[in-house]
Amino acid sequence: MTTLEIPGYAHVYSGKVRDLYAPLDENGRPRDDELLLVASDRISAFDFALEPAIPGKGAVLTQLSLWWFEQLADIVPNHVVSADVPDVVAGRAVRVRRLTMLPVECVARAYLTGGGLREYRADRHVSGVLLPEGLVDGSQLPEPVFTPSTKAPKGEHDAPMSFAEVEEAIGPELATRARDLTVAILKRGNEIAAERGILIADTKVEFGVEDDQLVLADEVLTPDSSRFWPADEWEPGQTQPSFDKEFVREWLLSPESGWDKDSGQAPPELPADVVERTRAKYIEAYERITGRTFTR
Ligand code: ATP
Ligand code: MG
Repeated sequence: MTTLEIPGYAHVYSGKVRDLYAPLDENGRPRDDELLLVASDRISAFDFALEPAIPGKGAVLTQLSLWWFEQLADIVPNHVVSADVPDVVAGRAVRVRRLTMLPVECVARAYLTGGGLREYRADRHVSGVLLPEGLVDGSQLPEPVFTPSTKAPKGEHDAPMSFAEVEEAIGPELATRARDLTVAILKRGNEIAAERGILIADTKVEFGVEDDQLVLADEVLTPDSSRFWPADEWEPGQTQPSFDKEFVREWLLSPESGWDKDSGQAPPELPADVVERTRAKYIEAYERITGRTFTR
């Protein structure tokens, strides 16, 4: 992976999808109070970075997050400083306050599927919360459930955490606030998305801490961090069609890809039509939710 040279910035970190840069001060030293968060077109699934990239994906994630930060501003403060960024990363980067991040992936689920469904099938609980009998793949939960997980280092898998483990990691007060905010974000997200014919099955957010306040950071309610389902095709009891990278996950798990998830081997290259359809899904999610036309 090659990192971009951005005049006036120093590269500090690359995650699976985003590259982080620090602006240089007048002495040419990296500042510690701000970051340039650049969303690449890289796509990951099952904790593997996939090849090739999805053209336009970084811009979709950045523009959609910016839109949601505004919709959520009365619920939670966010890390955005400005979307005025260097030309080389125009449209796919944002200047943010550099925060100390909570060591927890804050997940909330409004509908049952994926890892939550597997937990439910084992003992009717999801993250320690007892759920009604008879729920199936795609069922709506009576109330969104907070299902946090660890923030695993690159190459490792995130593991579910109980609420008690979150309390232990960050203290009971922050844990409660993180839980309540995560659920509130998903609820607001679903209220807005419903008007656009989309259900948000679940989502992951990350918070930083600033002056004892939780601040929403990273990305929010994007197709990378959330499962988006077309409401008119929602039918519990089967795998739901989706606007997110579930499409890529399904291809990887299909016989067509020839890949065995449990082999430990890296997944194969995505064929051109899978790349193109994934790009179209990301753009459709952005356009339906925001009502804007994607122009990059
Ligand atoms: P990892 O960082 O574990 O590789 P990831 O692959 O999901 O996870 P990316 O989304 O590619 O990571 O990178 C974004 C990184 O930037 C994350 O580690 C995230 O916690 C961090 N981050 C996001 N917003 C901020 C912020 N305002 N201040 C500091 N760090 C941030
Ligand atoms: Mg991330």
